[in-house]
Amino acid sequence: MSRIAYVNGRYLPHGDAVVHIEDRGYQFADGVYEVCEVRGAKLVDAPRHLARLGRSLSELKIAAPMSLPALTAVLRETVSRNRIVNGLVYIQVTRGVARRDHAFPPQGTAPSLVVTARRLDFVANEKIAADGVAVITLPEDRWARVDIKSVSLLPNVLAKQAAREQGAREAWYVDVAGYVTEGAASNAWIVSRDGKLVTRKLGRDILPGITRSVLFDVIKAQGLQVEERPFTVEEAQGAREAFITSATQLVMPVVRIDGRPVGNGAPGLIATALRRDYHAHAAIG
Ligand code: PLP
Repeated sequence: MSRIAYVNGRYLPHGDAVVHIEDRGYQFADGVYEVCEVRGAKLVDAPRHLARLGRSLSELKIAAPMSLPALTAVLRETVSRNRIVNGLVYIQVTRGVARRDHAFPPQGTAPSLVVTARRLDFVANEKIAADGVAVITLPEDRWARVDIKSVSLLPNVLAKQAAREQGAREAWYVDVAGYVTEGAASNAWIVSRDGKLVTRKLGRDILPGITRSVLFDVIKAQGLQVEERPFTVEEAQGAREAFITSATQLVMPVVRIDGRPVGNGAPGLIATALRRDYHAHAAIG
């Protein structure tokens, strides 16, 4: 079965799904995106993802391509046409098509909307989580507004490639003061020596992860404590546990940081329990 994409009002086989060469997403990376998990053919945490999309759009002064209920319907239709049971749905919105000029196009230029979906192998992902993953660290080299989920991901592409070349699954950015900001495609967490969950507080220097936000509810339900503060690479390497969160990886235990084992080098009990209970707290529909 050919995959189907939604492109500016039409559902098309991927081979025919194209955007204009003067789309500002292609010319300037002038656009934003969202990634939402699909589980049991249902959307996971869609209202929170769509709220973040709305914020990213308004921070960049890009018009919303359609109302939230209409967009939700397009997401559901794309999932259904691709017969996705477990997978992901991607939304990309750009400032539209216009003759190349850095400044905004004329008022009334319609934003472009693309929605695609793909399957995920949940069994393979559970196996990865059971083993845990390695991360490397790199100097933070992204722009100063990474709280906006922009499609401009070149530093993230280079960081992920560096991780892959070193046998790791994720790269953590480290700011000039020596503190971890976040991963190239995930938020970063540790369990401190005194058993608290530690993650950087929200600001312009990290993406406000939806998985991160739902995890606060899971943590509360498990009677655990959270501290929103930065941590160094050394603290993470000496922590009881470490993990990353994202819609694609959920709660993924980290077992090595720059080649040094975290804890006993195996996934920690807390990360494993948070992963197990995650969907009981997520909005699925
Ligand atoms: N930080 C970055 C840079 C990301 O790209 C992502 C997800 O892709 C996240 C954090 C985690 O966000 P979420 O939990 O909403 O997937």
